Amino acid sequence: MLDKIAAAATARARPPSDVTLVAVSKQQPWEPVAQVLAAGQTVFGENRVQEAQARWGDHRQGVELRLIGPLQTNKVAEAVALFDVIETLDREKLARALAEEFRKGGKTLRLYVQVNTGEEPQKAGVAPAEADDFIALCRNALGLNLEGLMCIPPADAPPGPHFALLAKIAARNGLSKLSMGMSGDYETAVRFGATSVRVGSALFGARTPA
Ligand SMILES: *Cc1c(COP(=O)(O)O)cnc(C)c1O
Repeated sequence: MLDKIAAAATARARPPSDVTLVAVSKQQPWEPVAQVLAAGQTVFGENRVQEAQARWGDHRQGVELRLIGPLQTNKVAEAVALFDVIETLDREKLARALAEEFRKGGKTLRLYVQVNTGEEPQKAGVAPAEADDFIALCRNALGLNLEGLMCIPPADAPPGPHFALLAKIAARNGLSKLSMGMSGDYETAVRFGATSVRVGSALFGARTPA
């Protein structure tokens, strides 16, 4: 996995250290996760707050946890307590709740705005045409310090144009980090400038839904 990511980065004259592997441990039994952890992997992705608490509560030391699934505002306090990074900031109500929680608790998380590049009705994320305004709102009105953008391209389309669109929106907003690419397309994503790839099944095997 890391060698393929490194090769894709090197092919674009980028140092392999440019790209972070986020190991997506959602819906995995502990054993394969423990193996990857023991092999030195430190960054993990989870898509549900409670499931992540159950899996990582006793193993939190030295691990960077990223929330890559939708966040309900009633779970914001728990999410801020548990995670280091939230990659799914996708609406004003959530942005306001996070800003308020950061103010109250004195802890700030790193944030990615999720962009619905395919404008799929069933998918979360701000529409590409609304991304600039949403980013400005987060930064200027709410004082949030954004780290980058995240997308999940449509399952049935070539991902390249979606990765390119995300990179373009990030560049014109002065954001340098791009979370894009999953098991099936992480090498493509690195070629399009991904700074982190979120890989689950290609690393751990098929998931066992709860
Ligand atoms: C589950 C998930 C992944 C990992 O998917 P794989 O195809 O197993 O690599 C990546 N990103 C998000 C947002 C996910 O929900």
